[in-house]
Amino acid sequence: MKQLVILSGKGGTGKTSVTAAFAHLASLGPFAGQVVLADADVDAANLGLVLKPRLLQAEEFRGGQVALIDQDVCIRCGDCESVCRFAAITECAGDYVVDPIACDGCAACVYQCPTGSIAMHEQVVGNFFVSDSRYGPLYHADLFPGQENSGKLVTLVKQRARARALDDNRLLLLVDGPPGIGCPVISAVSGADLALVVTEPTVAGIHDLIRTLDTVRHFGVGALVCINKADLYPAGAQAIEEQCRASGIATVGSIPFDLTIVDAMVAGEAVTAFRPVCPAAVAISTVWERITAALMNLETPTNQDI
Ligand code: SF4
Ligand code: SF4
Repeated sequence: MKQLVILSGKGGTGKTSVTAAFAHLASLGPFAGQVVLADADVDAANLGLVLKPRLLQAEEFRGGQVALIDQDVCIRCGDCESVCRFAAITECAGDYVVDPIACDGCAACVYQCPTGSIAMHEQVVGNFFVSDSRYGPLYHADLFPGQENSGKLVTLVKQRARARALDDNRLLLLVDGPPGIGCPVISAVSGADLALVVTEPTVAGIHDLIRTLDTVRHFGVGALVCINKADLYPAGAQAIEEQCRASGIATVGSIPFDLTIVDAMVAGEAVTAFRPVCPAAVAISTVWERITAALMNLETPTNQDI
């Protein structure tokens, strides 16, 4: 079983559109019927919007702890409010109450309270889902706004998707990774066989690409790069290719700006299924062929091979 993770230095580069198109293309080639999908972008899970999966299972995800005050025991001394560095405890109509969003779970108030009125409780910070999509089983999640622990939720999504792939003897785990370089990205990259970084030719795009590649390299995962909206700023696209060449990383294709991608998303379809001959779909198909070859050969091509 191979694990391919699609990353981007920041959101909005087209990563999920590319992943959805790969899911469709994989259903046509040597990976047909052999794919498990994981949406590891738990802060903004969008793959389901494109694939319109059928929900099979939903579970609450608990992470972190939050303080809870027993008002029957509290003597309203206010010590907990004074000790909380996160201003999560405030007086409200004579009672001291905890704002669960602001609470960091440090438990300082628990130790400060003279009456033992405060206890720490696990809280539900998101949901985990198993669904069935037209291109294979989809494991995804939804972290509630303002909640932390997205790295743990990404790990859960990946672990369950990977277990499914192994149980069913499927050949490919396709992971739509989170943007950026933080803890969730590390969780998404860990254990991958290959990473495709989708970037765009802007100054910020190049900067983010370098940081993402550094993260991927740190974990010993082979990386390839694809440039989305390459025709909007050809000089920037050329700069990315030169940067990748200098770093020994292959650019496996450029995708032109194409509003068909938006039309496909609105229609709830992968662009390669929605309009296979549009410029973006043709370019993504070429990238997929190169990715497939890299996965089958168990090695990462260099620019000289492309
Ligand atoms: S657990 Fe820490 S952050 Fe939460 S209310 Fe108590 S002192 Fe404040
Ligand atoms: S420290 Fe304890 S007793 Fe004092 S206000 Fe807070 S919860 Fe109540």
